[in-house]
Amino acid sequence: MIDLRSDTLTRPTESMRAAMAGADVGDDVYGEDPTVARLEERVAELLGHEAALFMPTGSMSNVLAVRSVVQPGQEVLCDSSAHIARAELGAHGAYSGVTMRTWTHPRGHVDLDAVRGLFAPDMGPFFVRTAAISVENTHNFAGGTVLPLQLLRDLKELATGLGAAVHLDGARLWNAHVATGTPLAEYGATADVLSVCLSKGLGAPVGSLLVGSADTVAEARIWRKRMGGGMRQVGILAAAGLHALDHHVERLADDHAHARLLAEACGVDPATVETNIVVVQRPDAAAFVERATAAGVRVATVGPTTVRMVTHLDVTRADAERAAAVLSELS
Ligand SMILES: *Cc1c(COP(=O)(O)O)cnc(C)c1O
Repeated sequence: MIDLRSDTLTRPTESMRAAMAGADVGDDVYGEDPTVARLEERVAELLGHEAALFMPTGSMSNVLAVRSVVQPGQEVLCDSSAHIARAELGAHGAYSGVTMRTWTHPRGHVDLDAVRGLFAPDMGPFFVRTAAISVENTHNFAGGTVLPLQLLRDLKELATGLGAAVHLDGARLWNAHVATGTPLAEYGATADVLSVCLSKGLGAPVGSLLVGSADTVAEARIWRKRMGGGMRQVGILAAAGLHALDHHVERLADDHAHARLLAEACGVDPATVETNIVVVQRPDAAAFVERATAAGVRVATVGPTTVRMVTHLDVTRADAERAAAVLSELS
């Protein structure tokens, strides 16, 4: 079975497991885990921010990142298929009292005119005020699309002028970095607070980081504990992340090439596939998934007429070629 349902399905490699087994650890709630500290420093530096905080999941990281810039009763603007709007089960409302309004862009880009139109300034205690704008790079449900750097810079300038913060959901920012060659810090400079995942294409079993100013991270550390996310000898997981940063970033280019193979097989223009996700619109999405699975290729629906396939560390070139052959038979 070739499993293309998600890039979260990867299992740690032998050498990643060895790095985990050998990790130096301590109680991270006491701030005494040296491996976690190394990971946090390294990721903060890569993204050009003061500090970072190791988080159990990308969802918790997004929730604490957004709440660091949006108070209860204020709102964040985002794309209508953003992970924060569609896949975090209302956490921003349930835990933080944050509401959302959305724009829609077919490639998940930020629509600056829509932001200008939606933006609500502080008009006193009668209206919800826009405190932040959130973007996702790469954009998951839009098909792993990369947000152009200039657009992100323009958004940062617009938001700063409006007195709003920018949150970046960079679960797959590594893929954008490898696909475009844009240094991570250039992306980092376009956001006040961001989140990156180690558990997607990088192949770590667990882990994300919230990245921002020292003050933001200090406050997020308190909220993480409050929400039950204070972890102890978690250097064992941070070691997997450090190993992934050393060995699994540049190879994302292979995943991107494999995704283009799959796109071609499904009748999607490979030029529109920028990273490791292929989204195919099919009226018979559920039946297509069933037939693909029966033929040995697992793909998933992410909407009634939308099939998603994702390449990753556990999909070899030979797997991708075999999956492409199977999928082109079905298309
Ligand atoms: C996976 C993902 C997250 C975080 O997901 P968790 O499963 O909570 O780690 C956040 N944003 C995007 C775009 C994602 O794809």
